[in-house]
Amino acid sequence: MAIDVVWFKRDLRCRDHAPLLSASLSGRHVLCVFMLETERLKLKDTSEIHINWELDCAIELSKNLRKIGSDMHFYIGEASEILKKINNEYGIKRLLSHQETGNSWSYERDKKISKWCQYNEIKWEEYPNDGVIRRLKNRDFWKKERDSRMKIPLNEPPLFKNSILFSGPVPEMKDLGLNNSTLTEWPEAGEKAAIKRMNEFLDIDSKRYSQSISSPILSTKHGSRLSPYFTTGVLSMRRVVQRTNEKINYIKNNKENIDNHSSWIRSLSSFRRRLAWRCHFIQKLEMESNLDLVAQNPLIEKNMARLLDEDRFERWANGNTGWPFFDACMRQLKTTGWINFRMRAMMMSCASYNLWLPWKETGEYLAKLFLDYEPGIHWSQVGMQSGTTGINTIRAYSMTKQGKDHDPEGEYIRKWVPELSMVPTDYIHEPWKMPERIQKSIMCYIGKDYPLPILNEIESRKEGIRKSYSARKGDDVRTISRRILKKHGSRSRPRKRKKNISDTIQKKLF
Ligand SMILES: Cc1cc2nc3c(=O)[nH]c(=O)nc-3n(C[C@H](O)[C@H](O)[C@H](O)COP(=O)(O)OP(=O)(O)OC[C@H]3O[C@@H](n4cnc5c(N)ncnc54)[C@H](O)[C@@H]3O)c2cc1C
Repeated sequence: MAIDVVWFKRDLRCRDHAPLLSASLSGRHVLCVFMLETERLKLKDTSEIHINWELDCAIELSKNLRKIGSDMHFYIGEASEILKKINNEYGIKRLLSHQETGNSWSYERDKKISKWCQYNEIKWEEYPNDGVIRRLKNRDFWKKERDSRMKIPLNEPPLFKNSILFSGPVPEMKDLGLNNSTLTEWPEAGEKAAIKRMNEFLDIDSKRYSQSISSPILSTKHGSRLSPYFTTGVLSMRRVVQRTNEKINYIKNNKENIDNHSSWIRSLSSFRRRLAWRCHFIQKLEMESNLDLVAQNPLIEKNMARLLDEDRFERWANGNTGWPFFDACMRQLKTTGWINFRMRAMMMSCASYNLWLPWKETGEYLAKLFLDYEPGIHWSQVGMQSGTTGINTIRAYSMTKQGKDHDPEGEYIRKWVPELSMVPTDYIHEPWKMPERIQKSIMCYIGKDYPLPILNEIESRKEGIRKSYSARKGDDVRTISRRILKKHGSRSRPRKRKKNISDTIQKKLF
C-alpha cells in the first residue's frame, strides 16, 4: 500500500503542524522526512551556520517524533532525487508539507517537485504557513485573514500507529564537508528550548522590550531572540501570538498587583506588531518571488548605478571601516550570528549611502551572517534600507550619532573593537580626532592600530542621500513605485501615537 510522506521543511515542530496531523489520520503508513539539500550549499545567501542550525533543530524534532510513535528519516541530496528514491521503494500516495515562501531557488525547486508529483500522480498537499496567504491577488483583506488565522486553536502533536520507524542516518556537518559553527552564541535547538525562551521573554524580559530594542546591548536580553526559532519553524507564529495575547489579558486583569503594567502592555503590544510585520514582509516575497534577485524598483537601481568597490566592500564586511560604532556592530554580528533591527538597518544604510555599494552583494553577505536568515523579511528590508523600493522614506543613519545614543560611554565599542579599549570616552566615537600625545600614551595609533575612517562620514552620507533622491526623479520611476505601493503596501491606518521610533520607521509600509 502506498504511503504518505511528511516533508519537513522550515517547520521543524510536532505541535501545530497540520501536515503531520493529516498524515496521522490517514490510516496509511507514514514516512517523516528531512532533507539536507546539497545544492543549497552553492547559493550565495546560504552559509554553514544555517545548515548547522537546521540540522540541530531537525535532530531535536526527531527525538520528539519518537515520543509520538514516529521517526525522522534524514536524507542528503537533491529533493527530487530523494523523493524519486522513496517513491520507488514504497510508492507515495500523498506528499504533505507546509507552503514554503523562500528564496528564488526554493521557489524553482518547488515548481519542479510539483511537476514531478503531477507526472507520478502523487497528491502534494501544501498547508498554509503562519499568516502568509498563497495566491493572494491584492492586499485589501490580508490583515483580516491573517488575524483570523492567528485565532485558530493549536493542533496538539498527533499519535502515530503506522509510522515507518527505521531511521535514516543522521548526517553530521562533516558528512557535507562542512565545519560546525564557531559562533559564540548558539541557541539551544528544538521546540522545548524555543518554548522556554518564549515564556522567559513574555513573563520577564519583555517588561523592558520597548525601551531596549534599539540598543545593541539591551536588545540581546530584552528582545525576544525568537527569530532563529521562527526561521526553522520550531515555533508556529500562531502559538506565539496566542501566548502573547494571553499574557496581555493576564496583565490587564491583574493590574493592581503588577508594577508598571501599562508600560509592559505597551511593550507586549509593540512585540505583537512585530509578529505581524513578519507575516507582512513574508507575504511580499510570496507575491513577488524574486525579491532576492531583482530590485523592487529596477529603474531606481539603474539610476543609482552603485559600484561594487572591492576595498570598500571588504572593509565594510570585516568591520574595519574606521567608524567605531559600525565596526563594533559588524564584529558582534560576525561573532554571534545576531544583531538587533536598528543596527541591521544601520549596516545596510552604511553600505548603501555612505559607501554606495550595491544591495544584492551586501544583502547576500548579511544573509549568510544572520542565523535567523528569513528571505521574506530580509530582502524586503534590504530593499527598504537601500532605498531601492521608491516607496519608503530614505533613511540614512548617522553612525556616530547612533553610537553616542546607544553607547554613550563607549563600553560596547571597547568590547567589540579591542584595538580601541584604552581610548578615552571623549574620543571613543571619533578616535581620529584624538591628539597624537594621547595616541602615544595609550599605544593606539589611528591609521596604524585602528584604521582612519574610510570616508568622511558626514559628507559621504550627504552625497549618498543626494544621489538617492536624484535617482527617484521621473514619471517612470514614480509609476513603478505606485504599483509597488498598491501591491505590497499595508492597508493599516497609521497609528496615531508614535510610541517608539522603530514603529515610526515602519509606518509608511505597515
Ligand atoms: C536589513 C535587515 C535585514 C533583516 N533580516 C532579517 C532576517 O533575515 N530574519 C529575520 O528574522 N529578521 C530580519 N530582520 C528584522 C529584525 O531585525 C529581526 O527580526 C529581529 O532583530 C530579530 O530579533 P528578535 O527575535 O529578538 O526580534 P523581536 O523584536 O523580539 O521581534 C519578534 C519577531 O518579530 C519579527 N520581526 C521583528 N522585527 C521585524 C521587522 N522589522 N520586520 C519583520 N519582522 C520583524 C521577527 O520574526 C522577530 O523574531 C532584518 C532587518 C533588517 C533591517
